[in-house]
This record gives sequence, C-alpha cells and structure tokens, in this order.
Amino acid sequence: MKIKSISLGYIDIPLVTPFKTALRTVNSVNDLIVKIETEDGAFGYGEAPPTAVITGDTKESIEATVRGYIAPAIIGMDLDDLDAVMKKMEKSIAKNTSAKAAVDIALYDLYAKRRNMPLFRLLSENDPAQTKTRLETDLTISVNDTDEMVRDSLRAAAQGFRILKVKVGKGGSKDVERIREIRRAVGPGIVIRVDANQGWSKEEAVRTIRAMEDAALDVELVEQPVSGHDFKGLKYVTEHVNTPILADEAVFSVEDAERIIEERAADLINIKLMKTGGIHNAQKICDIAQKNEIRCMIGCMLESKVAVSAGAHLAAARSCVTMADLDGPSLCSIDPYEGGPVYQGPEILLTEEKGIGIAKVPVLFEEVCSSTGSCVL
Ligand code: MG
Repeated sequence: MKIKSISLGYIDIPLVTPFKTALRTVNSVNDLIVKIETEDGAFGYGEAPPTAVITGDTKESIEATVRGYIAPAIIGMDLDDLDAVMKKMEKSIAKNTSAKAAVDIALYDLYAKRRNMPLFRLLSENDPAQTKTRLETDLTISVNDTDEMVRDSLRAAAQGFRILKVKVGKGGSKDVERIREIRRAVGPGIVIRVDANQGWSKEEAVRTIRAMEDAALDVELVEQPVSGHDFKGLKYVTEHVNTPILADEAVFSVEDAERIIEERAADLINIKLMKTGGIHNAQKICDIAQKNEIRCMIGCMLESKVAVSAGAHLAAARSCVTMADLDGPSLCSIDPYEGGPVYQGPEILLTEEKGIGIAKVPVLFEEVCSSTGSCVL
C-alpha cells in the first residue's frame, strides 16, 4: 500500500505545573503532529517535541526536516516494505532524531492498523514471552527548593503514584538534602529514582551518590549523573557506586547502546523514541539489551499522548523493558485526543484498538507532500 500524503500540524497543551530540570523550564507541550495517509485512506499519527537542549531539535528544524527531506524521500513508497521505508528515511538526512521519530511512529501506527492489530502485539511478535498489557509509570518531581519538592512528592503519592523520578543535578550536597527530605516525607513504601540530567561532575556524582547510600535513602537508580558526552565519566561513576546507574543522554543510537553495554559504562538504559529516531531503532536496542540481559526503561520527553503511547506500546511489547517513565500525559492539564491507551494515575492500560489507538487528533493539518501534488518546502 503506497504512502500517499504527509501533513503537519501543532498541538499546544498547558502543563499542570512548570516542568523544571537541571537543563530547562517548560510551561506547555507544544509539539509537531505528523499525519500520514496511505492510498486506501488509512491514517497514522506521530508526534515530536522540540527538546533543543537534549536532542538539538527545534520546532523549526523538525518541521524543515519532515518537509524538505523525509517526506520527499518516502512519499510513494510501499508501506508494506517498512524496512525499506525506514532505511530511506534514515538516509534522507543525518541526525534529526525527533523528526524521524514522529514519522516512524506514524508509519508504525499505520502498519499495525494495516495488520489489524494493536501496535504492542505487532512489536512483540519476536518476543512471544511478552504479554504485558498494563504498565506503571513514575511521576517526575521537578527540581526546586527542597520544601516545594517535598510538597510535590507528597501530592504525587496522594494521587497514587508509587514511583517518583526526582530531578536533581543542581548542587551535590543540596541534592542529598533534597532526597533525604523527600524520603523522610514519603516513607519507605515509595520507590525513588533520581535523575541528575548530566548535572554533576564524575567526582561530585560519586560523592553525592555515596552520601545517599550511606544515609540509606534507598534510591532505586541514578540516571545520567554526568554529561552525555562523558563516556569515561559515566563508566567511572558506575564502577564507584553501588546504586545502579541508568544511561539516558549518553544513549541515542544503537551504536551508543552497544558501547555502553559492551564496556559496562552503565547498568541500565533509558530508551526514548526521540533519541533513537523512533521505534525501528528502539527495537534494535531492545534486541541487544535482551541478549545481554540489560534492563531498560522507556522514557519520554515532554510529549503528549501520541508519542507517549507509542512508547507505551513498545514498553508493553518488550521483556527487557522493566521500567516506564511515561508521565507526559499525566503532566498535561487536558487530554485533547480520542482513543489510545488509558492513563489512570500511575497506570497505563493498553487496549485492543488497532495501531497506537489514537482515533482523533484535534489539530489543523497542512498537507506538505503528496504523491499526486508536489512537496511544499
Ligand atoms: Mg533523564
């Protein structure tokens, strides 16, 4: 079935509260939505957030990449040869993983619909032991003054979240204090994950993580303690602490994941579709992780339900994925979509709807490329 047209639009959803990490503060989800149509009139949807400080992708660059490079390359291709379409997209432009992810998600949505199955069933075809239909996501606690973080943590626990992902990376000793106070407030029954978002030096990381260990703060894992470029630093931290280290900003490509796993530079890997360029490459990372018995998290950027749900389908489909950081829809003040997985507090329930399951996207789309017309650059 031929890919007939590609359209673009934007969704804008205010967040419940501003999202703050060591790198940035954001007030709303303002993402590009991609709609791809095949000749039989079927649609698939994808989404990409501009996360310039992490992926380098801006709103303008994502749109220009889809319009000027990816769309002209894949329009008219046969969706049923999904591998060939993915290869063509990959070759159309280097990097630009968010734009690729948006298109990849829309293509997988369409492909699963064409196979008449939910995406997670399609993605688990080579992993038949996998039968998850329910995920439990953590909730992000933004980095703020300790008092505010304690209040946010208590509110999250009251809402039923049993796993907190606490953002730190702004001053090592202050960070220990933040986690100490949060642990004291929420008690022992809540899982605490710590994400430093590259905020520490390797020495500061080891000192801070050891201080958390000595104080028995029971931290499940520490995510990306040092710069994503500092491979040696990451390995150093992993070797010098007992707490499992999760690589996030250090792993974009399949090659990054291979290197981290081969050299044991981290214990765990955070897979995000916006880093890998979509499901196609994420599946390859899962294959490598599974072969090496490395556990993975599926995470998200500040994404709404289209992209997060694609991540949820992948998380449900693969047995290497034991952790979900898919709180995007929980951080949004409204859900403007129809259909798709059900987000109930910390629970994400996969449904038997075909594809990703999103039936309606309230966005004004502009067709940017079609097999009958020309591509509008
Ligand atoms: Mg992270």
